[in-house]
Amino acid sequence: MALSQIIGHDKTMARLKSLLVSQRVPPALLFTGPEGVGKFLAAKEFARALTCLHKPPEEPAPEKSLFDSPSEPATHHSPLATHNSDDACGVCASCLQIDSGAHPDVRIIDTAFQAALLDEDESRNLKVDTIREVCRYANQTSILSSRKVFIIRDAGAMVQQAQNAILKTLEEPPPGTVLILTVSRKNALLATIISRCYAIDFTALPRAALERLLEAQGQTLDDAAALSSVSQGSLKTAGDLRRLSERLKGGARFDRMGAFKMAASLPKDSHRARHEVVTLLDLLLAGTRDRWAGAAGCAKKPLSALVTTLLALRRMTAQNVSYNLILETALLESEKLGILPENVIKASRLVGQ
Ligand SMILES: [Zn+2]
Repeated sequence: MALSQIIGHDKTMARLKSLLVSQRVPPALLFTGPEGVGKFLAAKEFARALTCLHKPPEEPAPEKSLFDSPSEPATHHSPLATHNSDDACGVCASCLQIDSGAHPDVRIIDTAFQAALLDEDESRNLKVDTIREVCRYANQTSILSSRKVFIIRDAGAMVQQAQNAILKTLEEPPPGTVLILTVSRKNALLATIISRCYAIDFTALPRAALERLLEAQGQTLDDAAALSSVSQGSLKTAGDLRRLSERLKGGARFDRMGAFKMAASLPKDSHRARHEVVTLLDLLLAGTRDRWAGAAGCAKKPLSALVTTLLALRRMTAQNVSYNLILETALLESEKLGILPENVIKASRLVGQ
């Protein structure tokens, strides 16, 4: 994978490449856009291009004096020296260490990193202690590459104190340090953070690009087309809906036990779990609103109440409430009015095609 292989974001990738080519990379970048469209993947590939050992040096070479020796010819024989300056080589020690997640100068800051750092269970938020540690790392000398890159994944998860703690580092990053913040809800960030970062905007994936990505993941043409039509340009949403429809095909019923089983099968990774719960809530909301539109008179009232409940549960996904509990409540409350995720998906022509 390289920047040039990221599909569906041609203009955005062109902007990132132009930063690399001009060698004027802002020290603080903010990748914004909907969830599941490739912001984190792009951030990782940008970090790879920034730290690749077969890239030109960051600063233009000083002018040669008459007394300088001729340039070292060895690099002229290396095939690696000929790769484009806007992409990583993919084979140097730096590129390979990013693949293995062990690069000493490229750190991905998320709730999983935090759990390992603080030796505690994974939590929903990024805490001030974690961000202070990031600022400390940023002041250390790089080990393998000429740059250090920190990717703060889902930066909106930083508590306010953590956001305040990173302001100074964003404003005056130590030399050679690049911070990339990814965020899907920009309003979760302080205005002072946003104003210190160079914004790179991502949009929902075009349907054709999403179809290609789903096909590349092994989906049939029909399934890829059906999924991409209801996934709002998000690969993550498409993945959630696919998993959900597969579980529903297994005959899960939404009585209390079915809801409990469904909640218990949520992914352990909190990013994925949250997204899966939000996807399901959106699905139930769509089904309830459809039913409301077709209902008459007093039949609308309980449906309105359900929409209110589902919206409240959706807001809770951004707070410190158990995803399992949110999912169980949503399924049981919807089931009371006969709104089952399976039927909503069927209506979207996802199941039984
Ligand atoms: Zn490389």
